[in-house]
Amino acid sequence: MKTLYMEGLDSEGFEQLCEEIFSAFYKAKVKRSFLFEDANTDFVVLSSNNIAVDCKHPAKSPVGRPAIEKFYTAMKKKKVKEGIIVTSGKFASTAQKYIDENNLPITLMDLEKLASIAFKAGIKLVYKKEEPEAFTIIANSDREFREHLSKKLKKELQCSDDIGLNIAIIKRDISHVVYYKINYRVDAEFTASNKVIHKETGDGYFYISESTGRIEGDEFSKVYDMAPRMAYDPQGKDAALLKPRKQILDVLYDKVQSMHTKYVPYMTKSNKLSTKTCTPTKKDITIQNVMCLYLPLSDVEYEMFGKARTIRSLESSSEEFTIIDPKVFACDICGGKISKNGIVCVKCGNIVDEKHSARCSRCNKTLCVNCSSYVSKFLGKKEPICGTCANKEPGLKIKK
Ligand SMILES: [Zn+2]
Ligand SMILES: [Zn+2]
Ligand SMILES: [Zn+2]
Repeated sequence: MKTLYMEGLDSEGFEQLCEEIFSAFYKAKVKRSFLFEDANTDFVVLSSNNIAVDCKHPAKSPVGRPAIEKFYTAMKKKKVKEGIIVTSGKFASTAQKYIDENNLPITLMDLEKLASIAFKAGIKLVYKKEEPEAFTIIANSDREFREHLSKKLKKELQCSDDIGLNIAIIKRDISHVVYYKINYRVDAEFTASNKVIHKETGDGYFYISESTGRIEGDEFSKVYDMAPRMAYDPQGKDAALLKPRKQILDVLYDKVQSMHTKYVPYMTKSNKLSTKTCTPTKKDITIQNVMCLYLPLSDVEYEMFGKARTIRSLESSSEEFTIIDPKVFACDICGGKISKNGIVCVKCGNIVDEKHSARCSRCNKTLCVNCSSYVSKFLGKKEPICGTCANKEPGLKIKK
């Protein structure tokens, strides 16, 4: 089924939309009004019994008796026996009464009726500004979170003992942050030298953070498209965020405009090759749907090998989660960022870089330099050793 959207249409666009719907419904061609030189009939449906159609959009005031009279006069002049007035607004309360009393062959059609005949003709007319839908993603349990966290840490850090068995969640606070999933459609036509040189169409969606206005990438979409979500009825402060701010929509418009900008070569009237930058305008972009997602943001205090740490992350109901802080670990001894080969000291829980790490030469435990001693061998070669192993060999000369 084809879908047509009301949003963003000017009067010309609305006429075209009506033409398409009536032509499909009556399975007939339409003829534009300018051929009749009368502004009171927008087009005529060329069916067995020709039907004049008058489109009123945007509708500033209710359509009442004067408009109906004018339309009927135009119909008689053109010898059209049937007429339809369509409005995106309202009809005056007396309009139908006037038609009935005078037995006029005119049908009044609001958007609801228009949508219903469109539907019969196989066209879905989206005419109500659809309210954003709100959902929340269910956060994992503490136990699940602990598992996912250990899995992630195991991937990033080296440790001779099992990290999973040495992590304890002390405190986990969950709040929500808002993301919008916004679907859009582009429909643009570009002309030069009185010719259409390019048509740009497309659709898609983006996740945008309410607080930062950042557009998230494919990874994010992958996780949150799949994450099971629950309908959510936000209250109070949360409810105010249901509709995206203008700035959020502007972020989307900018992105879509840059994505759909094309440089199109064309021939000028004087037969010279030229290029036009074709950027869709905001009017060419239709926001089709806005979904409001309240994602669980968790602030966690945990202990790893007895050392207290914190982590802030954006969760999903799967094992995927986005760590917001710390983005990277810093060496607990020198404070340097650890890009790779970070090591967890199983004695004190320090996370250290290669420079400040050691492995016990006897039991192979991962240690930080604070927790390892060394045995000085001949030729000055130093062998790291942990306290436990050192105690087992009483004769050794241990140095810090
Ligand atoms: Zn260090
Ligand atoms: Zn240590
Ligand atoms: Zn050892």
